[in-house]
Amino acid sequence: MRTADANQPPPYEGRNLFLTDASLQDAVAREGAGWAHERLCAWGELLGRSETHELAARANRCAPELHTHDRFGNRIDEVAFDPAWHELMTLAMREGEHCAPWVEARVGAQVARAAAYLLHAQIENGTQCPLTMTYASVPVLRRHAAAFPLLSATWLPKIAGREYDPRSQPVVAKTSALIGMGMTERQGGSDVRANITRAERAGDGSYRLTGHKWFFSAPMCDAHLVLAQAEGGLSCFFLPRLLPDGSRNAVRIERLKDKLGNRSNASSEVEFDGACAWLLGDEGRGIPVIIEMVQHTRLDCAIGSAGLIRAATAQALHHAAHRRAFGRRLVEQPLMQNVLADLVLESEAATALALRLARAFEADAPDVETALARLVTPAVKYWVCKRAPQVTAEAMEVIGGNGYVEECVLPRLYREAPLNSIWEGSGNVMCLDVLRAARREPAAVEALLSELGAARSADSRLDRHVAALKEALREPGSGDRDARRVAGGIAVALAAALLLRHAPPPIGEAYCASRLDGGSAGAFGELPASVDPAAIISRRLAV
Ligand SMILES: Cc1cc2nc3c(=O)[nH]c(=O)nc-3n(C[C@H](O)[C@H](O)[C@H](O)COP(=O)(O)OP(=O)(O)OC[C@H]3O[C@@H](n4cnc5c(N)ncnc54)[C@H](O)[C@@H]3O)c2cc1C
Repeated sequence: MRTADANQPPPYEGRNLFLTDASLQDAVAREGAGWAHERLCAWGELLGRSETHELAARANRCAPELHTHDRFGNRIDEVAFDPAWHELMTLAMREGEHCAPWVEARVGAQVARAAAYLLHAQIENGTQCPLTMTYASVPVLRRHAAAFPLLSATWLPKIAGREYDPRSQPVVAKTSALIGMGMTERQGGSDVRANITRAERAGDGSYRLTGHKWFFSAPMCDAHLVLAQAEGGLSCFFLPRLLPDGSRNAVRIERLKDKLGNRSNASSEVEFDGACAWLLGDEGRGIPVIIEMVQHTRLDCAIGSAGLIRAATAQALHHAAHRRAFGRRLVEQPLMQNVLADLVLESEAATALALRLARAFEADAPDVETALARLVTPAVKYWVCKRAPQVTAEAMEVIGGNGYVEECVLPRLYREAPLNSIWEGSGNVMCLDVLRAARREPAAVEALLSELGAARSADSRLDRHVAALKEALREPGSGDRDARRVAGGIAVALAAALLLRHAPPPIGEAYCASRLDGGSAGAFGELPASVDPAAIISRRLAV
């Protein structure tokens, strides 16, 4: 039977992921990275090719394997990846996902990189783990480069390298370097103060680390930033995988995690057996030192989940545009239109939030943007990452039975979706951080209110929502139980403001009608009668 007769859509491949996403193009231009248009077109075209889809599927089907010993019984602690992984890493590093904004310090550099990352997130997510950690490590390494000259002389230039180099070689011999992060231990991930890994001075300026990390992703990175207890308290260390003489550092990979999703990426458990590391900052200041890295990884979680939401929504739209049931295409069925339009609203909101947040991370951002990022990063990380599992589940259902079968990409998106919400600060931890920022940093609250003020009077429902939010933020009280309401309220308010100001009018109006002022928090597809779903779908339909 020919495909046309079988009522099956063509594969969603061979599309330029950037050119078929009007909201991303708008956001890139609006947030200051219009100059990156051509580059993003090329990246979107490359990612959208069927060959790249196949690389992503293969990298996840053929998961990495741990080889602890060589055939002579020597410890090697190597992880073997499928060639598809290496190919995807090669492409992404050439694009500069791990370093571009630090190298090309121009206005919009963070936004351009965020857009590239959001596009990549629609195709493969495991490779984004080492890319994110490397990108996020740079501000910390730069801050401490003066005290640790090897960082500026050797490591930072290699991190800026764009030629992927998976070889286990001392960093000087490599074309590029990747950096990971190790905080979580068995007894505590959110509360890293519970870390028990010990760090002792070695007498030559370095330290020896003894202990473990329970989640240590991308163990093949050339170095990790890790937390350990020194004499002066919890401290941050730079831990290379190989020592300058080429010997292996005393980091034993015990096993790889058998994960729900993110299967292309290796996440390991490791033991430090007197591993050699260098202190970054002062003893006892581990959390303040590493928090700058954490803040950047949280930005990437939000961007990554916006990419997942976009990917799932695009797949659902594509399927519904081709599949017929009960005499009409699914996209013409009124109830399906309601579901699809609701998914589009979520995708519009996630994209707008992610790129707006990225602008607050620009190198030359004024203080008010830094203050905004302090409050909005945990709120947006919480909200966008929390929406992704719901969107992927609904998009899977739009595709019907085929959506549940592994040949479709939806099962992979669905398994991936909860991860960004768990790592780098799980949902509750993000919401508590929002309250902490509101209590301690009035400038952050004022920055948010000023940003929301730009949409004042555009919609009375948003005005009411912002008035209530203002009260909650200016007087957050001492209790924590409402933290999710506050964090979610910030993200929805900011999304509504951005969509009212910048999206086509039906989108901003429908977002407010469905997400504010008692709008449904239930299943997708409950948009009220005032909303015209077809108008929302039509502008975003990429067939
Ligand atoms: C695939 C994967 C890869 C990872 N890679 C890395 C890595 O490379 N490096 C690394 O350091 N870590 C990594 N992690 C670990 C991850 O960051 C932690 O799992 C996460 O921070 C949560 O810590 P935990 O698992 O110890 O849970 P816990 O800290 O025990 O938290 C459990 C739950 O309790 C909630 N909670 C905690 N405190 C409070 C509170 N005060 N009030 C209300 N609720 C609270 C949390 O939000 C969470 O939902 C990875 C995790 C996964 C799944």
